[in-house]
Amino acid sequence: MTVKHHITPSVLAAYAAGTLPEPFALVVASHVSLCDACRADVAGYEAVGGAVLETVFDRIEDGGDAITMSPDALAQVMAKLDDMVLDTDPAPRASDPVFPAPLLDYVGGGVDAVKWKRIGGGVKQAVLQNSAEGSVRLLYIPAGMAVPDHTHGGLELTMVLQGAFSDETGRFLRGDVETGDEDLEHTPIAEAGMPCICLAATDAPLKFTSLIPRLIQPFIGI
Ligand SMILES: [Zn+2]
Repeated sequence: MTVKHHITPSVLAAYAAGTLPEPFALVVASHVSLCDACRADVAGYEAVGGAVLETVFDRIEDGGDAITMSPDALAQVMAKLDDMVLDTDPAPRASDPVFPAPLLDYVGGGVDAVKWKRIGGGVKQAVLQNSAEGSVRLLYIPAGMAVPDHTHGGLELTMVLQGAFSDETGRFLRGDVETGDEDLEHTPIAEAGMPCICLAATDAPLKFTSLIPRLIQPFIGI
């Protein structure tokens, strides 16, 4: 896997810190599962977080401003652990040629399990989550078609899962992530050959400016 377009450091750091809204976290988790470089970076940020925690514990041991828990907190946790039935033989994790494991878990199955909705011109989408903090959806764009026009409310992460698309900023293949913001004006077009399936997250609900996507343009180039 030769991923060329990665997650930006600030987004990776937010992911490691656990402060990234769920729609973006799903894209980052999916990318990280396919990208050794970003996975290593996340591990690095998590190590920094671990070091911060250790400093906090050191201060507690030194009699500093410790966060005190109720006297029976430990006993309560241990009692709950005793009650838990541990699954000692978990089912092997399913693999899927299109959906990385985090997405497979989220959807509850592969591409066949997706409830697609047609949005015109052969383009389909499936909204996975839509809330005040953002939205994340799957997009299915037939080969040679343009991605439907839409506005960028803020941050937008688009990851290719199958096929490829190109726009003014480059060429994006499986695993690649395009990071857009309100300044990005682009016309992504799915390459010929096979339908392009993408996972896209935005922090404002993504609005397509027209139900009929930009007219099909044959893909020219590369
Ligand atoms: Zn990466």
